[in-house]
Amino acid sequence: MSLIGQKVTVLGGGIGGLAAARALALRGAEVRVLEQAAKIAEVGAGLQISPNGIAVLRGLGLEEAVTACARRAEAIQLRNYRGAPVLRMALPQGDARGYYLMHRADLIDLLAKGARDAGVEIVLGAKVTEITLDPTVLRFEDRQTETPDLLIGADGINSVLRPALNGAAKPFFTGQVAWRALVPTQVEHPPIASLYMGPGCHLVTYPLRDRKLMNIVAVQERDEWAAEGWANPDDPANLRAAFSEFAPEVQALLARVESVKIWGLFRHPVASTWHNDNAALLGDAAHPTLPFMAQGANMALEDAWVLADALAGSADTDAGLMVYQARRHLRAAKVIAAANANARNYHLSFPPLRAIAHTILRTSGRLAPQAALKRFDWIYQEDVTKA
Ligand SMILES: Cc1cc2nc3c(=O)[nH]c(=O)nc-3n(C[C@H](O)[C@H](O)[C@H](O)COP(=O)(O)OP(=O)(O)OC[C@H]3O[C@@H](n4cnc5c(N)ncnc54)[C@H](O)[C@@H]3O)c2cc1C
Repeated sequence: MSLIGQKVTVLGGGIGGLAAARALALRGAEVRVLEQAAKIAEVGAGLQISPNGIAVLRGLGLEEAVTACARRAEAIQLRNYRGAPVLRMALPQGDARGYYLMHRADLIDLLAKGARDAGVEIVLGAKVTEITLDPTVLRFEDRQTETPDLLIGADGINSVLRPALNGAAKPFFTGQVAWRALVPTQVEHPPIASLYMGPGCHLVTYPLRDRKLMNIVAVQERDEWAAEGWANPDDPANLRAAFSEFAPEVQALLARVESVKIWGLFRHPVASTWHNDNAALLGDAAHPTLPFMAQGANMALEDAWVLADALAGSADTDAGLMVYQARRHLRAAKVIAAANANARNYHLSFPPLRAIAHTILRTSGRLAPQAALKRFDWIYQEDVTKA
């Protein structure tokens, strides 16, 4: 079906919503993005964009804009919590699609510009409080209502569209919390993602922008519950205490943390229904994931491309949305299962088991250094723009 002139309302101006808006607009749709925030601004944090995400950004004509502000990662370095190297996975360089380390705000900025350049209207301060279906009606905070022709719910983890299509979901606390912080440093760091694995906790750090800004994500298993959400502040002393046994270079970094956010990690089921005949879910709204494969944003980018492609390649909207879910559901569920499994792998608490696991990783790293990365080719080497 031709998307030329098709009116689409995208709810949510995050990574998935903005990418979908550009993808649809490039195919001729008239797209409006409704975003609750008063301005497009992102909480400071880092993102890893892997080759499968880069494939979509390339397809959207935004790869150059990404490489201009992101750092191409050279390697992922696994260490035990004392700092001893366990496994180094060199990342492909040269012409191959790369792995990039970037500031989330930079990705949002370039997607918003990309959407506007394609003719998308972004409406800020538009918070939708309720959605009813058949027909689809959006109700805003100020009680106004609107009936979109086609609605894409890219409204994140607390989606308003998801329960309308699926009923209320039952996420559960995983017993893990994640702290996130950005730390300016005096020296330039190599573009390497370092992962320190300890008993019941792990910490990932990598440089952003001019390589003097270090991104930290630190995960701990604990009974004490923390709210889900990216903006809940915590005392940096709690982060330092949780990782006080970690390597000196980690301690030095944590000593510089002035403000930190804490986020309770919840497991959400993948939505079983992603669409009806004129509304569809996308990104975290359809399939929130734990952060242990760094794939949430990459999956949202893939969804965005496939949605536009499926609509353009189908006889009508209904068929297009069906093809969209069919092409995305299984892959999203599989990636999320891999992220769930990684939490266990990083956090082995029983010392002999941890020692054995690290020895196996070390040995396999020496014998077949690329094998660990190749296990995930099914995620990273996917190119949904070629399907
Ligand atoms: C600590 C951490 C690290 C991560 N690291 C990575 C990584 O390295 N790589 C990766 O790929 N992913 C990563 N992710 C996951 C990734 O950030 C998310 O999966 C991704 O942002 C999902 O994009 P989205 O567009 O679906 O949702 P969101 O980014 O949540 O965007 C939703 C948008 O909708 C708006 N909105 C919500 N409700 C309403 C409403 N009712 N009315 C109007 N607007 C609304 C919101 O304001 C927001 O702008 C990480 C996440 C966290 C928390």
